[in-house]
Amino acid sequence: MSFVPDGWQASSSELAGKTVLVTGANRGIGEAVALSCAQHGAEVLLLGRDDAKLAQVYDQIVDLGCPKPGIIPLDLTTRDPSLYTSLADELSGANVVLDGLVHNASVLGERRALAQTSPESWNEVLQVNMTAVFLLTRALMPLLGAATAASIVLTSSGVGRKGKAYWGAYAVSKFATEGYMQVLADELGATSSVRVNSLNPGAVNTGMRRTAYPGEPPDTNPMPDALTDRWLYLLSDASRKLHGQALSAQKS
Ligand code: NDP
Repeated sequence: MSFVPDGWQASSSELAGKTVLVTGANRGIGEAVALSCAQHGAEVLLLGRDDAKLAQVYDQIVDLGCPKPGIIPLDLTTRDPSLYTSLADELSGANVVLDGLVHNASVLGERRALAQTSPESWNEVLQVNMTAVFLLTRALMPLLGAATAASIVLTSSGVGRKGKAYWGAYAVSKFATEGYMQVLADELGATSSVRVNSLNPGAVNTGMRRTAYPGEPPDTNPMPDALTDRWLYLLSDASRKLHGQALSAQKS
């Protein structure tokens, strides 16, 4: 059964007045989620490392007549915690209150046995997929706490819930994401205004899926924009009671 109640549909103003930051907003699921949030009234902060592609998403949102978004250029291989805190300080200086934080950006890394995985690839995958999530959330927590009911959405994967050969550091990073979600959810408890859940998108027709499954016809899987209501629901006040849950966007 889906976690989105039967018949629930985001109204055109579902996220009006909310500010949502999406990482990896320049393509794939992140781009679709960012566009959909903007189309439902949110001011979206587009975070990524590809400035030109982020600018295209920005233009698309403006052309649609949605609230003007913001662009946050950041390469998540950045290990220096002070860059994350300066970003939070800059947003705070601009009086930004964060109602939603979608940790979407990830890298697949090497699809090979752990014994053959290079330490460089291991470190990059763990940095982008997990450590950057920790650094960014840690820095942004005051801005999330300032919102009435902020929602953090972590992006998981099937291989972050059941390990599979040759998924290496990627699978391990997604298990870590689930662990991080549980620890953070327990710390925030039932009293904090901030809630956190993890969401496994399932198979989606994106660059990452096509790289992971080169022999699969791409149209086997839904396009990202067919699934964005799951993210909208998690970011909307309709899901306020959902906290500390490992959720799935599709039936497995
Ligand atoms: P894509 O590969 O299409 O997009 C990945 C996004 O992450 C891109 O925007 C990419 O930006 C960004 N990113 C990667 N590295 C960095 C970095 N160092 N700094 C900033 N941004 C970075 O993947 P999907 O859209 O398919 O995946 C989105 C999420 O969903 C991921 O967390 C993935 O693990 C998860 N997922 C996807 C599934 C699928 O079938 N598609 C299945 C299960 C989980 P850039 O263009 O600059 O590389």
